[in-house]
Amino acid sequence: MQELWATALPLLRQQVGERNFVTWIEPIRCASDEEGLRLEVPNRFFQEWVTRHFLSAICSTLAGVNGSPCAVRVVVGGDWSAPAPLPPRPARRTPVPERRERAPKIGHLVSHYTFDSFVVGDANQVAYRATMAVAEAPGRRFNPLFLHGGVGLGKTHLANALAHEMLGRTPRQRMACLSAEAFMNSLITSLRQDQMALFRDRFRLVDTLILDDVQFLAGKERTQEEFFHTFNSLHAAGKQIVLTSDKPPAEIAGLEQRLKSRFEGGLIADIHPPTLPMRIEILQRKATALACPLSDEVARLLAQSGGPSVRELEGALNRVLATATLRGLPITVELAQQALGPLAARPAPTSAETVQEIVSEHFHVSVAELTSHRRDRHLVQARQIAMYLCRTVAEGSFPAIAEKFGGRDHSTVMHAVRVIEARRASDRVLADLLLSLESALRRRAAA
Ligand code: ADP
Ligand code: MG
Repeated sequence: MQELWATALPLLRQQVGERNFVTWIEPIRCASDEEGLRLEVPNRFFQEWVTRHFLSAICSTLAGVNGSPCAVRVVVGGDWSAPAPLPPRPARRTPVPERRERAPKIGHLVSHYTFDSFVVGDANQVAYRATMAVAEAPGRRFNPLFLHGGVGLGKTHLANALAHEMLGRTPRQRMACLSAEAFMNSLITSLRQDQMALFRDRFRLVDTLILDDVQFLAGKERTQEEFFHTFNSLHAAGKQIVLTSDKPPAEIAGLEQRLKSRFEGGLIADIHPPTLPMRIEILQRKATALACPLSDEVARLLAQSGGPSVRELEGALNRVLATATLRGLPITVELAQQALGPLAARPAPTSAETVQEIVSEHFHVSVAELTSHRRDRHLVQARQIAMYLCRTVAEGSFPAIAEKFGGRDHSTVMHAVRVIEARRASDRVLADLLLSLESALRRRAAA
């Protein structure tokens, strides 16, 4: 077995590239047991990474060298001279039980994109609630449900979570959960093989159709035509349809009007970029799931790095975890800063001055009034909102913010932040206003 591994190594080096090889393959220790080849790695993060990115290359290379497939397991264990001081892994969530007697499914679901692993906050709670409502009463209240939001904000995650949830509730239903691109590819294949009748049966007989990234249909007339009929026949039969897109229907250029109006016929819910507290929670959850919990400081530093996308946020987390793992060091602020490089050094996304400008524009007051000591009701509210945003988006310390608002006491700012935070949770109108101010600030910072 050792020989087999040694022979495979140079081939793997070519296949995965020098950098990956040195980082992820070379450190692996190879052992064998009655079950086959045991590849030992230092911790669970390493294990997940190798499994996700290199296991299939490893297996196929070994099979090539060996002349027949051999069982390979990537395990945490062995004797590591400089073990990373990692905390014990938390109890695993109970896995989704194997469901027998399922009807055939169209499309592939990502197993860990579930409601459980989805962090809900006011940036996405409308979409989350709508999705849950669909799971509870498919085909009835929100049909179609149209979810839209920017790249990496959790549309595919929610779509998959819904499919899992619906299959959990009604295992024998016929579920189609796939991307618009996969739908088109399936159509093309069926056209080529002259099997359109099969294609139509396949899609028009499902109980639930979840089509991800429908903006992809833009300009694809033949596919839109076919999808239009699929949509109509499912809708008429009271079957649930869920669509996701990076834009609302009206803004998808190259999408036929009749499809737009179908898409607008149900509920449209948007997903906004997560707020800072949500970003922190997402990071904490992902890190804990990988058995590498983060301190509050590190989580905050990471949450402030990068753009709005959660995918990018995960990328930053992975970089930090990988660096800590490879150097065998604990995950400190310094380490995170090094791992993130210029991303971490990025200045706070926006300044107190920008917050004041945007808030005063919105409330039609001047910056001077906003920072004055006047106690008119509308000024007090605008001021509290501005202080809150200075704290949550511009990331100022309480005394620094107090200074920017006419040299007040910092406890005034703390009070304002608490008041707005509490109201945000219960007052939908305020929550929406904050979201729109936050995206205005982000746009301004990006400009
Ligand atoms: P989209 O389809 O909108 O481009 P994805 O659903 O692929 O985005 O999400 C990108 C990554 O971010 C995924 O790994 C997903 O699990 C994660 N993610 C996005 N939103 C959340 C959230 N609210 N809670 C937990 N993870 C999230
Ligand atoms: Mg997606």
